[in-house]
Amino acid sequence: MSRPRKVHVKSFGCQMNVYDSHRMADALAPAGFIETARIDDADLVILNTCNIREKAVDKLYSEIGRVREFKEAAERDGRRMLIAVAGCVAQAEGQEIVRRASAVDLVVGSQNYHRLPGMIARLQDNDIAGEKIVDTEFPAEDKFDVLAAPSRSTIAKRGIAAFVTVQEGCDKFCTFCVVPYTRGAEVSRAVGKIAAEVERLAAAGVREVTLIGQNVNAYHGTGADGRPATLAQLLRRLSDVPGIVRLRYTTSHPLDMSDDLIAAHRDLPALMPYVHLPVQSGSDRMLAAMNRRHTRRHYLDAIARLRAGRADLAFSSDFIVGFPGETEDDFRDTLTLVDEVGYAGAYTFSYSPRPGTPAAEMEPVPQAVSAERLQRLQAVITRHQRSFNTSFIGRTVDVLLEKPGRLPGQLVGKTPYLQTVQVMAGLELIGSVEPVAITGTGTNTLFGAITMPAHAPVFATAGA
Ligand code: SF4
Repeated sequence: MSRPRKVHVKSFGCQMNVYDSHRMADALAPAGFIETARIDDADLVILNTCNIREKAVDKLYSEIGRVREFKEAAERDGRRMLIAVAGCVAQAEGQEIVRRASAVDLVVGSQNYHRLPGMIARLQDNDIAGEKIVDTEFPAEDKFDVLAAPSRSTIAKRGIAAFVTVQEGCDKFCTFCVVPYTRGAEVSRAVGKIAAEVERLAAAGVREVTLIGQNVNAYHGTGADGRPATLAQLLRRLSDVPGIVRLRYTTSHPLDMSDDLIAAHRDLPALMPYVHLPVQSGSDRMLAAMNRRHTRRHYLDAIARLRAGRADLAFSSDFIVGFPGETEDDFRDTLTLVDEVGYAGAYTFSYSPRPGTPAAEMEPVPQAVSAERLQRLQAVITRHQRSFNTSFIGRTVDVLLEKPGRLPGQLVGKTPYLQTVQVMAGLELIGSVEPVAITGTGTNTLFGAITMPAHAPVFATAGA
């Protein structure tokens, strides 16, 4: 019996890449590929890259060097291993990757991975020594229309919480960001197609769906009536899907925080009260230099409007410190904004230039200054996060139990506010929402015990 072909997909960066990695594996399944967690066992290794983070290109080449050793070992065993580079670095670097790294057989851009089966077949069947494929053109067809759907058993293996891409690309052109160049202009999937995907996920046991997009609240996919639908309309449609008990969306832009989305937070019990709303800086001068197209006031107004719609909403954000031209006063504006909002969490970054972006041409802030500001910002955010988490001690909160914990008899789940919770409970409760009395907190985790449902869930009663 011939050995099944195996694919190992290594995903870097954001949730969108994790979703794309799953869809790459799904696309290859009809061609006979099964997923493997082992690189040494793989016939095809896909590095699904991200270039949001610092030194993404350097990291890619060092990762290729590591995988090349497995490829050479496979060749010594008389086996052929193909290496593919996908994602945002592939999109940005293209041909340069096969020029610099001869071990790479295939480079596929973020919009083209639905063509992977054909490319792999060409490389394997032709077996032309040294043939390379680079496909980074933005295609005319929509990859989601041609991608194979995952099987029920594959969905079940991935767990009860799933991501679904609803929107890709960005038209905002923040001066530090590569997304508009690597993912292209904003494109939204049609409501009907997303609903069909979510119904398939729910039928296979998924209970929570996070809608993802680089600028997800700018969503404008075609609705059932043929007209563009908003994210709020999409959420209302998905809240009717039997089995789906929780909906989330990320990542949003303050400019696109519309009244109907705020109303959806008020009206839809399935829509979780946690919003990731990146601000990047609290200084209007920096926001203008970043081309964020919103001011501090505009951002704080969006937060206030959201809280007026639903009082118990919690927020997280993204911050960049040390952006070119940032003074101590600008940085202090960021600290005061953090205090004003009182975030439940945040991602913080020290600015580093991305080649090809306008900010890469600007005069950088000295590294030591940037590093010191980052530490100060992180200390303030950690203080807010701790106080948010400890405010749950003694309260009862609804927890969606997701998977076994590290200890026997332990399950791990999430609160409506995305906090991880550990409880002692049987495996049969995976996928159910249980009231949990919170007894303590660790660095990133809450601890608690399942209580009787007589307790009102905290997210239905808490105030801001
Ligand atoms: S809105 Fe977000 S994705 Fe778009 S350019 Fe700005 S940072 Fe990048």
